[in-house]
Amino acid sequence: MVEGARARPMAGREQPTREEALRQPRLHVASHPLIAVRLTLLRSTETAAPRFRELLGELTTLVGYEALADLALAEQPIETPLEPMIGAKLAEPLAIVPIMRAGLAMVEPLLRLLPEARVWHLGLYRDEESLRPVPYYNRAMRSGQAAHCIVVDPMLATGGSAVSAVELIKAVGAERITYIGIVAAPYGVAQLAAAHPDVAIYVAALDRELNDAGYICPGLGDAGDRVFYTGA
Ligand code: URA
Repeated sequence: MVEGARARPMAGREQPTREEALRQPRLHVASHPLIAVRLTLLRSTETAAPRFRELLGELTTLVGYEALADLALAEQPIETPLEPMIGAKLAEPLAIVPIMRAGLAMVEPLLRLLPEARVWHLGLYRDEESLRPVPYYNRAMRSGQAAHCIVVDPMLATGGSAVSAVELIKAVGAERITYIGIVAAPYGVAQLAAAHPDVAIYVAALDRELNDAGYICPGLGDAGDRVFYTGA
């Protein structure tokens, strides 16, 4: 690439429409009004990093609540001040797998819902030329430690990082994998669903398309830059 020129890896690539992506049986796009209002604020250029982080956290909690609705439960006997009763506890060990950088901002809100979960950090940067994910950090994923892994990354754009993350997780024997994101592109949904049709995908919004540079439109820009205040 000529120095200073912007890579256009999506130029000329065919992309599915929203309607086509919505046919994926394991895709869940939120429809709650509280999510729609927060998402609008998150996308706006007027929202600065401190509020952006708060909104991303709230959206993660709301989408996470939907995504985790069918977690398996086991019986938990307890005593209330009045009598013994059989309560509930989560039946399976869980792990949250944030794809760095932007996925880090989704960890704390999910840990509030799942305080017992392990956190497996995964660093996959995107090669600007090819858009292929290149692993640079993969901490402590060991076989048998989590039956259910929850991959988190706010932007499901080309799907390359999500596909690679799921491959790495499957290699350590997770029985079930859920992806939680905030904004998805039809292209990323199609790539993830084609490579891993068993993975449930939960997002707050399904946007129109990727631009030539691989950004989701209308989107919200670079999520990592907006969380960590590293943009222009
Ligand atoms: N990653 C982002 O942060 N934003 C996009 O639009 C695409 C990928």
